[in-house]
Amino acid sequence: MNRSLAHFVAFAVILNCGSLLNSVRGDDSDRPIIVCSTTQVADFARQVVGDDWEVRCLLAPGQDPHLYRVTPNDAKLVADATLCVSNGLNLEGNNWMGALAQDAGKPLVQCTEGIRLLKVPADEGDEESEVADPHAWFSPQNAAVYVRNILRGVKAIDPEGSDRYESRAALYLSQLRGLDAWIKSQCNTIPRDRRILITSHDAFGYFCSDYGFRSAAPAGWSTGQEIGAGITPARRKAAVDSIREYGVKAIFVETSVNPKLIREIASEAGVKIGGELYSDSMGQSGTAGESYLGMMRENVLTLVNALR
Ligand SMILES: [Zn+2]
Repeated sequence: MNRSLAHFVAFAVILNCGSLLNSVRGDDSDRPIIVCSTTQVADFARQVVGDDWEVRCLLAPGQDPHLYRVTPNDAKLVADATLCVSNGLNLEGNNWMGALAQDAGKPLVQCTEGIRLLKVPADEGDEESEVADPHAWFSPQNAAVYVRNILRGVKAIDPEGSDRYESRAALYLSQLRGLDAWIKSQCNTIPRDRRILITSHDAFGYFCSDYGFRSAAPAGWSTGQEIGAGITPARRKAAVDSIREYGVKAIFVETSVNPKLIREIASEAGVKIGGELYSDSMGQSGTAGESYLGMMRENVLTLVNALR
């Protein structure tokens, strides 16, 4: 072996040792994988696991979880998962995240477990039967339950990392308490009788309940056709009537829902569109609404600006 070749071999051995050490310490390829359904639960998961886990999200920003159809690639991602996370309560239409996790035999955290749920009518014309409103993250106090559920699931799989997971969760939970207080103070600048939130679909029930708003949504609790109420002439008329009756200043479109219906209602009722609210999905990466804290902040500023 000549001298330069010997050098090369020694260098290659050092490189090899380096990669071995990395795998012992847990480099990228070795990290456990948490596969989440919606952008919100993926953000909550990230706040708990940091870079210790790889966080993957099946829905892209702006996609509607009610209408989403799973792809073969989603099944592949779930097959690689260490842990799956869903919102639950059929936000994922027909429970697609639960079904994916079950088919792959993966553990699943359902974030809404343990939340005090609001009920919404299951169907227009059938106001008797009710389902649980799945949009629970719109209350920061509920978001804290989401985070604690994820924390519990992650610790069960990696008890040795508990200190780090708990520390991160504690910081984030304090931020959620701060968010709640800030939203209260912002909403208090809107007179009570002007706190009426009219959007495409009933996503904001928990927000309205926490911050003293009344709501009306022509599409019911789901945007889907098969589940939830969907858009009906009666709901549409109710929305227009309540806008007129209460002298509503503005109504709002949602980032994950086609704005057509709200535009039509706005022109029919002679009211302006107050802006776009993040509802079932957060914003694109790099936008102000790319995180839960950011989307809630931007939503509140949009509401305050339009309704005050
Ligand atoms: Zn929804």
